[in-house]
Amino acid sequence: MKITFPHMSPVPVYKKLVELLGHEPIVPPRPTQETIDLGVKYSPEFACFPLKVILGSYIEAIRMGAEMILTSGGDGPCRAGYYAELHKRILAKLGYNMDFIIFDSVFINFRDFMRKLKILKGDLTAGEVVKVLKTVYRFSQSLDRSEKKLQIIRAYSLSSKDCDTAWDKINRIYDKAYSYSDIDSAESRASELIEGIPVFRVKEENKIRVGIVGEIYVVLESSVNMEIEKVLGRLGAETERSQYLSEWIDRYMLPSFIRKAYKKDKLDKIEAKGEDFIKINIGGHAKETVGFIKDFRDRGFDGVIHLMPFGCLPELVTQTIVPSITEKTGMPVLTMPIDEQTGNTNNITRIEAFIDLIKSKKFTAARTAGSAAGSV
Ligand code: SF4
Repeated sequence: MKITFPHMSPVPVYKKLVELLGHEPIVPPRPTQETIDLGVKYSPEFACFPLKVILGSYIEAIRMGAEMILTSGGDGPCRAGYYAELHKRILAKLGYNMDFIIFDSVFINFRDFMRKLKILKGDLTAGEVVKVLKTVYRFSQSLDRSEKKLQIIRAYSLSSKDCDTAWDKINRIYDKAYSYSDIDSAESRASELIEGIPVFRVKEENKIRVGIVGEIYVVLESSVNMEIEKVLGRLGAETERSQYLSEWIDRYMLPSFIRKAYKKDKLDKIEAKGEDFIKINIGGHAKETVGFIKDFRDRGFDGVIHLMPFGCLPELVTQTIVPSITEKTGMPVLTMPIDEQTGNTNNITRIEAFIDLIKSKKFTAARTAGSAAGSV
């Protein structure tokens, strides 16, 4: 079966899952303006932005021969739960009667989850399926660790091209990893490549760290978020995101007792931090976004960029809370709306101004503390 999936980084993880389950992956092309235009053309005007881009990606993958779409569902009071159903109907109207496999959290409906897994697993035994899932989980954790390291080095690299070349090589190495030992050696090779990137030295006190928070699709998918990590890296800022696929798996696919026992409950703790500002579940990643702003502040980050897709109600609510979080915590936050008409130049100017502001805030505070100490 030729199976496609949404183009949401890290794409190699979904490709690996489909391959290991014995199917042919149809990897959708990296979204471009054409993909967005295609999605916008056939989506309801006020649908949230990720729905439109993903629709465009599906159409492109179907034209490449995809026969089935593998995606996740969603629960809670936002539109994520309707995405797949809506995509299915729009595609059918366009004459593409696609089979969808929509995975909701295993804890919402265990039998339904197993029924869908059975369709996907083909001739594999239960033991083999468990092995595939564990391998893909390890793959995703390893790839996330490598990417985190790269986004730190990016801030100090002599040329951002060196980082891009290293990342391309790393992806090609991971692409050939099909077992635990392959994954472990891919990670060692990735570390060597990252450590081999020429960098300039920066004193610890002069380093700038910026957290990136918001709705999962626009945080993870660099093709729609102006490649924000590259932009910030070029401006000399280390970055860390609120969303990593392996942490999403921890939160939504592992039972809570396993999460606690293996210290994989980071997102539970972050959500709890968000409760000071958002008491109930309003859907999407709103609580996490707020929790992460506080967490980045607690960990000494210098600023946060909040990515908010057009039409996303949970992040719209978060945006209205951001000024009071900044007031109470002192953390500078820049909210960036992401939609099909986002002009990059305007946004990049805003990001540059934000980085200048947080640098000036940090260094002025350091100078003031230094002269106060000197005057004692
Ligand atoms: S979180 Fe926002 S963008 Fe994502 S489905 Fe919900 S409303 Fe749409």
